[in-house]
Amino acid sequence: MDVKTLNQSQTTTEVFSQLAENNHEQVVFCNDPATGLKAIIAIHNTVLGPAAGGTRMWLYNNEAEALKDVLRLSRGMTYKNAISGLNIGGGKAVIIGDARRQKTEMLFRSFGKFVNSLNGKYITAEDVGITTQDIEYIAMETPHVAGKPESLQGSGDPSPVTAYGVYVGMKAAAKKAYGSDRLTGKKVAVQGVGHVGEYLVGHLAKEGATIYIADIYEDRLKEVSEKYDNVVVVDKEAIYDIDMDIYAPCALGATINDETLTQLKCKIIAGAANNQLKNEQVHADLCRKKGILYAPDFLINAGGIMNVFCEISLPVYNRQRAYEQAERIYDYTLNIFETAEKEQINTHEAAMRIAKERIRAAATLKATF
Ligand code: NAD
Repeated sequence: MDVKTLNQSQTTTEVFSQLAENNHEQVVFCNDPATGLKAIIAIHNTVLGPAAGGTRMWLYNNEAEALKDVLRLSRGMTYKNAISGLNIGGGKAVIIGDARRQKTEMLFRSFGKFVNSLNGKYITAEDVGITTQDIEYIAMETPHVAGKPESLQGSGDPSPVTAYGVYVGMKAAAKKAYGSDRLTGKKVAVQGVGHVGEYLVGHLAKEGATIYIADIYEDRLKEVSEKYDNVVVVDKEAIYDIDMDIYAPCALGATINDETLTQLKCKIIAGAANNQLKNEQVHADLCRKKGILYAPDFLINAGGIMNVFCEISLPVYNRQRAYEQAERIYDYTLNIFETAEKEQINTHEAAMRIAKERIRAAATLKATF
């Protein structure tokens, strides 16, 4: 065996061992040199229905990082969809590239063709770096896409519904931690003021919270701080150290880790970002030990997929229904806090138990005719 063959086989083994780690069903590598498309679609679990979850466009440092991200994100979708009572499984896609510079119509149409080749086993939508315009291009090549513009009878950008769910989840956390769900006067640090982050800032500003924002883009910071009251811009590296009541991660994942947990002095963590805990068990336990109430990300950021589900499951999309579903995140979140307290476990684990139990029960149901 020459060196090249050895390297190739090692890589294959590594990919399969990564899939085996969390029982992923399928991973599709999409390569189209003509458009520059390099994408990965990951299908984690389809017990509850076709895998559904957004597409992220991000300039990863390397391909291994992109694969790791899509595997983590698609697994998260399985449990998010399960705990939200939706009959869809977990999937996600990543497109490797700079969302500010490398988007073209044909790149997204090429991606749409790959999504279409899965015949509905995976349904895509927006995630970080993706707009309704990009979704419109994908929809030219496949019907298996949601979050289409409202002018195309779609549900539009899911972010407002996601932000609303995060907001009510945060209020439930405040109720548990402070005895009142009023956020007036609370100091909230919002990391990432993109689609969801900005809508969340809107809700918080309306309620009279003091909001600290950080982002990697100056133009976003300027726009958001000028648009809403009580907004203070902070350095993106300094955000973990500021004096705050609530930390709301709304950028990328893994920001709750050994290092940040020595810095954070907040009482609550409640945000939109997927996979906030770098190590789920370790860092959820550490939050509990430190007296930080962690609102499980996959529970409180489910508003967007609830909105998407209304588009794919109803004959006609109904925005009111999407908001009604997102509203329930308040009670779901309080319920998880109560369960965690009663069973002396961390809040992430309490939420995972409910999600896993629903998948197990649905698999049993399917076993009979
Ligand atoms: P977005 O791309 O619109 O916004 C993300 C923002 O985070 C951008 O402004 C980006 O510049 C900023 N950012 C990136 N790295 C940062 C850093 N290190 N520090 C500070 N800011 C940083 O994405 P979005 O749609 O708002 O999604 C935000 C998060 O919420 C993601 O983790 C996404 O997976 C999750 N989420 C989104 C939805 C949705 O409906 N869009 C639904 C569920 C979960």
